[in-house]
Amino acid sequence: MTVTQSFPWPDGRRLAASLTFDMDGEATAYIIDRAHAHERLSLMSEYAYGPSVALPKILRLLEEYEIRATFFVPGFVAELHPEGIEAIVRGGHELAHHGYMHENPVGLPEDYDEEILLKGIEVFERLVGVRPVGYRSPAAENKPSTPALLKRHGFRYDSSMGGSDYPYLVATPHGPLVELPGAHSDWQHFGYSQNPKVGTGISSPNKVLDVFAREFDGLYDRGAIFVSVHHPMVAGRPSRLLMLERLIRHMRRFPRVWWATTDEIARHCETVADRLATVKPEIPAPNWLRPPV
Ligand SMILES: [Zn+2]
Repeated sequence: MTVTQSFPWPDGRRLAASLTFDMDGEATAYIIDRAHAHERLSLMSEYAYGPSVALPKILRLLEEYEIRATFFVPGFVAELHPEGIEAIVRGGHELAHHGYMHENPVGLPEDYDEEILLKGIEVFERLVGVRPVGYRSPAAENKPSTPALLKRHGFRYDSSMGGSDYPYLVATPHGPLVELPGAHSDWQHFGYSQNPKVGTGISSPNKVLDVFAREFDGLYDRGAIFVSVHHPMVAGRPSRLLMLERLIRHMRRFPRVWWATTDEIARHCETVADRLATVKPEIPAPNWLRPPV
């Protein structure tokens, strides 16, 4: 089945593709083992690998294929690796917001959400003079209050939700926020910690390549958007780097792909906003729940 109706992408393109990298770095150790991260040198080294070792390799790969990507970076990690942040910007890539210590906003008070947002913005402005316009929630969790908070602070788009195969708008009192839903994330396949047990184990790069490539095929067929989510600390290991290159080569075989940063895609979406679906950031309350057993 080939779907003929498609999204109004520029220049007759069929699909917009954006490779995105969530560079969680050392903040990951504090998520996995908050109480003991400061004692766990080996665990920390595993996550420092992302910004220290994997990032330069990923930037070289992107340069070789002339691809500009988007990097979502927690403020804490940016402060630890200013040279890496400079290299991202120098390479023409987009720098986007990903919390300060990679905080999961669910359960946090709303004024704390704002404090985190402002802290992350301040770090990018101080280090490289960039004010981010894109946001991906750490732990991929937005609250109903998140879109309005982002819009109020000048953000153009969010990429944390999954309500469509296409970009859409989220209504806020400050105007609509563009939502760019992500496709697959490699963390579910490669993220792993022995102690405490986190993740589901280590997948074969061949299997993960197949998962990503088939999702791309389906979205291309629909004329949709493909925002892949990679984590340098796992994606930059040699076998996964080869996998990423094979994914890029697979995507390159399709003729009508618009390769862009997520900011560029969001800018385009704003110009065709009247053709995008709009949703309200509301969670339906159940009117009946079975009592706990
Ligand atoms: Zn993350």
